[in-house]
Amino acid sequence: MLTLAKLDIHYGHVHALKGVSIEVRDGELVTLLGANGAGKSSTLMAISGIVRPSGGSLSYDGVDLSTASSRQIVGMGVIHCPEGRRVFGSLTVQENLRMGAVRRKDAVRDDLDYVFSLFPVLKDRMRQTAATLSGGEQQMLAIGRALMAKPQLLMLDEPSLGLAPIVVQSIFRVIRELHRKGVTILLVEQNVRQALAVADRGYVMASGTVVMSGTGAELRNNTDIERAYLSSAPGTGKP
Ligand code: ATP
Repeated sequence: MLTLAKLDIHYGHVHALKGVSIEVRDGELVTLLGANGAGKSSTLMAISGIVRPSGGSLSYDGVDLSTASSRQIVGMGVIHCPEGRRVFGSLTVQENLRMGAVRRKDAVRDDLDYVFSLFPVLKDRMRQTAATLSGGEQQMLAIGRALMAKPQLLMLDEPSLGLAPIVVQSIFRVIRELHRKGVTILLVEQNVRQALAVADRGYVMASGTVVMSGTGAELRNNTDIERAYLSSAPGTGKP
């Protein structure tokens, strides 16, 4: 289980997370919702050890993540698929996927086949460099690469951002399939309806705090959320 308790993050004088408490139990699909600048990406970056909390506690399966290295965190199966499809453009699709497994010592062939079964287009493009893929294909590759690391807890940051509706459907189909297979998922999304349709539970963030939480169904039925918290607040973008 992942537990964040009263977590704070500062970027210099910017107090980006203010006492955030979140739990993700094994096998759950939990979504983090909120307008731009609410603190969603910062939350994921703290979990994966990219930014260090300035207060509170952060643990996974009882291990304190706030002092663990990114390498140790990945070794525990906590895998972060960041916003913006960061694939290695000059490497082929297959090389990118193998990079995801670089820290593993066991055979990866079955996992490669599994990724190709989820995203058949990646098999067709296996020898093509990632830079030549469409945005949707790059996102599939980014998720595929994260899967090659054999995640126990998979964190996806806005996987549907900027993609055509048909691609969004296939990304959500795969998220559902991974959840069904028992992968624990923490999903950051601006696509609120789709996220709540697949999530067991969700948290709504605003200005660095959790302002609401509930089951996917409870949040879906709460018509106030979108109006109150999920429109992009001006002036909160990153510097
Ligand atoms: P988005 O959807 O736009 O990525 P978000 O909910 O993920 O938004 P964060 O990216 O976590 O929000 O940002 C939270 C707050 O921290 C924002 O006010 C942002 O401007 C600030 N912030 C993020 N990164 C930095 C940084 N490197 N330096 C200073 N402030 C930052």
